[in-house]
Amino acid sequence: MAKAYHDADADLSLIQAKKVAIIGYGSQGHAHALNLKDSGVDVRVGLRKDSPNADRARKAGLQVDTVAEVSKWADVIMNLTPDQTAAKVYHAEIEPNMKPNVTLMFAHGFNIRFRTITPPATADVSLVAPKGPGHRVREVFTEGGGIPGLVAVEQDASGHALALALSYAKGIGCTRAGVLETTFTEETETDLFGEQAVLCGGTSALVKAGFETLVEAGYQPELAYFEVLHELKLIVDLMYRGGLEYMRHSISDTAEWGDYVAGPRIVTPEVKKAMKGLLNDIQDGSFAKRFIVENETGRHEFTRIRKQEAAHQIEKVGAELRKSMPFLDPVVVKDGQVHKA
Ligand code: NDP
Ligand code: MG
Ligand code: MG
Repeated sequence: MAKAYHDADADLSLIQAKKVAIIGYGSQGHAHALNLKDSGVDVRVGLRKDSPNADRARKAGLQVDTVAEVSKWADVIMNLTPDQTAAKVYHAEIEPNMKPNVTLMFAHGFNIRFRTITPPATADVSLVAPKGPGHRVREVFTEGGGIPGLVAVEQDASGHALALALSYAKGIGCTRAGVLETTFTEETETDLFGEQAVLCGGTSALVKAGFETLVEAGYQPELAYFEVLHELKLIVDLMYRGGLEYMRHSISDTAEWGDYVAGPRIVTPEVKKAMKGLLNDIQDGSFAKRFIVENETGRHEFTRIRKQEAAHQIEKVGAELRKSMPFLDPVVVKDGQVHKA
């Protein structure tokens, strides 16, 4: 059984006694900064000079400075810039300014696991990773709850790294729901595998293949969209509440029987072998290396595939259908910005 920590296992006064710099004010950054502030922690936000988020943070009552300034000031520095940016920000602005006995924190182990950041031996290095998107970390906290999380310690120079990480986790609400102990390696490798094999890569490919199969067989694209994409949410919501058994309890017997006989014909032993291949590429660092090189060389492949995927027929059909479904609060992404549909 994984070791779990709850509110009673964490002492909030530890993080309340520290100066905490949150670097970045995106999905996770805004939630961590605001939750910590509400928990009575001395927080400052570090952003680049021209950050479009600086005003938002100031309006929310937070002090905003440059990354260099807050890094000089802080006892604890939580790096919440994107994974492909975190090492650049660390080397340029955090490392030259931070105190020798600083606590460096992350919400994902990528840069420590793949050694794009190697902190000095005098620093504590820990991880608090909420298992949910930032807006939920904030919303659930303001409602009195918390999003579950993971905690890990990579380097314990002070001898108190775990206690402080748990205190931080309490400050952002995670111990209300429970925080599981892990390592940077386990967190990073399972997180990458989950998003590649199942959550993002596997699911997107499955949905597209199902849609294409129906449309190529002459069925109407609108029906195909409803059957393979729209209804997926209803199924996932059932799984989320009561596991596969509750989902299967709620669907028709026809659907349940189809689940049992068809599932293994789709996810064959070959598919599982491919999953093991993905896991191997994650473990031996080749996935990380490719992603890092892609980012360092202008993201041409990334941009090309993003554009190609956005042009898929399922996206056009879906955008039209969602216009008539205001209840699901439809949105569109245009030039990287989200707009109401
Ligand atoms: P976002 O992309 O939402 O936010 C990034 C923030 O970093 C922005 O405020 C951006 O600044 C800032 N930033 C980018 N480049 C720089 C720079 N050069 N100097 C200073 N600031 C910069 O990131 P996420 O919140 O999604 O991810 C942060 C971390 O949290 C990652 O490690 C991720 O893996 C982890 N995580 C994310 C989850 C999620 O749901 N999103 C879930 C769990 C963990 P600007 O305001 O100027 O644009
Ligand atoms: Mg991830
Ligand atoms: Mg059906």
